[in-house]
Parts: sequence; structure tokens; C-alpha cells
Amino acid sequence: MAQKIPYKIYLSEDELPKQWYNVRADMKTKPAPLLNPGTGKPVTLDELSQIFCTELAKQELDNDTAYIDIPEEILSFYRMYRPSPLTRAYFLEKALDTPAKIYYKFEGNNTSGSHKLNSSIAQAYYAKQQGLKGVTTETGAGQWGTALAMACAYFGLDCKVFMVKCSYEQKPFRREVMRTYGADVTPSPSETTEVGRKILKEFPGTSGSLGCAISEAVECAVTNEGYRYVLGSVLSQVLLHQSIIGLETMTACDKYDIKPDIIIGCAGGGSNLGGLISPFMGRKLRGEADYQFIAVEPASCPSLTRGKYAYDYCDTGKVCPLAKMYTLGSGFIPSPNHAGGLRYHGMSSVLSELYAEGLMEAKSVEQTSVFAAAQQFARIEGTLPAPESSHAIKAAIDEALKCKETGEEKTILFGLTGTGYFDMVAYQKFNDGQMTDYIPTDEDLAKGFAGLPEI
Ligand SMILES: *Cc1c(COP(=O)(O)O)cnc(C)c1O
Repeated sequence: MAQKIPYKIYLSEDELPKQWYNVRADMKTKPAPLLNPGTGKPVTLDELSQIFCTELAKQELDNDTAYIDIPEEILSFYRMYRPSPLTRAYFLEKALDTPAKIYYKFEGNNTSGSHKLNSSIAQAYYAKQQGLKGVTTETGAGQWGTALAMACAYFGLDCKVFMVKCSYEQKPFRREVMRTYGADVTPSPSETTEVGRKILKEFPGTSGSLGCAISEAVECAVTNEGYRYVLGSVLSQVLLHQSIIGLETMTACDKYDIKPDIIIGCAGGGSNLGGLISPFMGRKLRGEADYQFIAVEPASCPSLTRGKYAYDYCDTGKVCPLAKMYTLGSGFIPSPNHAGGLRYHGMSSVLSELYAEGLMEAKSVEQTSVFAAAQQFARIEGTLPAPESSHAIKAAIDEALKCKETGEEKTILFGLTGTGYFDMVAYQKFNDGQMTDYIPTDEDLAKGFAGLPEI
């Protein structure tokens, strides 16, 4: 007889994965290599090590090693907040009156409030190992900056965060959490970097973008001795660290004989989705099992569903290596969407390749429908979700309602990446009925595409 599935499945500390899984090892067509923007040739380890810590640069370029040991110090930090629970959404299933079984993996149970801590602690560890003084980064909504500040505090590293100006002003609480953990937070674009001064001159009064903040953080790293740049998403190394989410999920599923049919995640730069699906995708790539994977993005920043698969700059200042990815163009500045973590113009090159090969699907959803799903979820399942995570909730509810129509008993699994505690201004807009849905026109997108480099 099948065993009863508890509302929450908690793994024991001993069941915490000891290795990360690198899905690139099982991909027949590897993601296209990063290119040096100066020479147009694939970046070398030497070149990449000027920007990133050497060990992380190695992970970035490693398309072949399937399993990479998680260093003991990182494992012991993970034990402070992992394994994270896999929850059976019994209440939601009942409320939707669906035959579908719904599960979600919740990553919001740490002070930073999201999955980003899984990678920030790894990146801080390798920086410390290399004897660096500190790291620089950008943050949009603030989750990554917060996660990095926590990780740097743990290892005693200096942490310089360039925070997109509109968030710096609208999210004073996140800013103060970062400062409490010892980070130095600068609104971007700023006068402290050459690229920041240039952007300010060209677009006075701009409220900033992730692309600008990345350029400033990279410049700050390469011009300061003993500093390297770290990034919280998009990169293949970040997907590797985030595979901890998928590995734990797979262990929990195997233990209770749960076989997901559909796996859903929100997609900003692709790190939580990539991490959640990686081990399942590995099984699919090796022909051991089949799953339907769905990336969910905001209709206001639709890189997979409306972008081009092309080489592009990762930042507005064009200082980073070029990546082949689904992109809206590095000059694309999305309308002020309240899911700040989903506003990046591009997408992980690993997920981009999987999507191009038809191994993963993508859909876009509009903001007000996302907040309606968030509100429904909060009232029914108890947890107040982050707006980013709510994109996945919306898609999962849609799939469960389809099952209600067809009578199919599908198992739906989604990533609940974080809590919405710091997003109450957005919830306020929604509650007041003042939230709008802005969808870029083809002309808006054409402007972004016009800035794509010719390779
Ligand atoms: C940053 C963030 C995301 C999106 O980033 P990915 O790299 O696409 O995972 C999603 N949810 C939350 C809560 C975030 O903080």
C-alpha cells in the first residue's frame, strides 16, 4: 500500500546532498561558450579569473563533471537552514477541487528570504579560500544582496553592493538588513564608478537597472585589489549551487515514491528553476524518466517567450563576457514590475539551450493574475509568497485547473522561492486595485534587439 504523504516532508541532516549536480555534463549539446567581448573568442580560465574567483571560474567553464563535492564549510552552513521542506499542498488541492497532486519546495526559510543563500554562501566561501578581501555585486529587489551580505558576514569578507536605485529608495528594509550584516550599499547608477557616471550623463534621472548595476559592480571589482565580482543568477556556476534544491526534492520524492509529471519554476535569470529541475532534467537527458518542465516569466520581461536566442552583453556597460541566451537586449529596461527578481533581460545559457532544444517549455503571465494567485495561496496554504515565486504558483494553479477539466491526476511540483515580507508595497498596490499590467509592444522589443552585438 502506498504510504500516506505528510503535509511537510522534512529530510534529515544526513540526507542533505553532499555533492552538487552539474546538468551540463548530461547535455549532448553544451551551452554556447562565453565570449570575450574584445576578441570574440571563447573566454579562457585566465580571463575569467580576473573577474571571478578562480574556483568559481573553473565551475563556470566545467561542462563535463557531473558531480562536484560540496566543501564541508558550505555543508555546515547549509545545515543552519537546510534541508528545506517539500510540502504537499493538500489545502490548495482541496480548494481548487482538483484531482491533481500539488507539491512545492519552499526556499524562504532563512533571513534572506529566498533560495539565493544557496549560492551566495558558496561564492563567499571560494572568495575566502582564495584569500580575497571582499566581493562586489549588484542587487535588484534586494534578495541577492541580502543573501550575499549574510554569507560575507559569516566568512568575514567585505561586501560592496550596488543596488538598483528605485529599489534602494523603495525598499529601505532590505537595504537595512544588508547593512546590519555589514554590507556597504550604494544606489546605482552612482558617481563612484566611471560606467555609472557615463550612464547618469546619458540618462539623467534614471532609476537604474540590473544591467547598469552589474557594470558598476564589475568595474568596482576589477579596479580594487583583492576584490572579485559575484553574481546571484544567470551563470552556470549559480545553477550548479542551486542544484541542492532539486537534489533534495528528488531524494524526498524518491523516498515517498512521488513521481512529478510537471515541474514548474519562475524564471528571472534561471537559477532557482535550473537548480530545481537539474537532477530531473538529468534523468530525462539520460532517458531514465520523462517530465514536463515549465519556466514562468512575467509578461513585462518575456526573455524566453519573446526574446531572441543570440549572443548578448550581460550588462548595460558591456564589460562582462558575452553569453548566448534568450535575451531582450542588454539595453531593454522593463516597465516597473513588482517582481524585481524577474527583471533581467537575459536567461541562463544552460536553460536557454534546453529551451531551444524543446526540452523545457516557457509561458508568461501578467502581474495582476500573479498577485491574485499569491493572495489565494496565502489565504489557503498560509505562506505569504514572494511576487517572483507567485509566477510559479499561478502556473501551477492553471495546470491543476486543467486537470480538473480533464480528470487527470497529474503530480505537479513547483518551486516556492521565497517569502513576500519585503514586498508589501507591491501587495498594497494590488490590494488597492492600483496594479497595472504592462506588456511591451513589438516596437518596444525591437529597440532592445537593435542593440544586440553582431557575432
Ligand atoms: C531572485 C529571485 C528569483 C529569480 O531568480 P532566478 O535566478 O531566476 O531564480 C525568484 N524568486 C525569488 C524569491 C528571488 O529572490
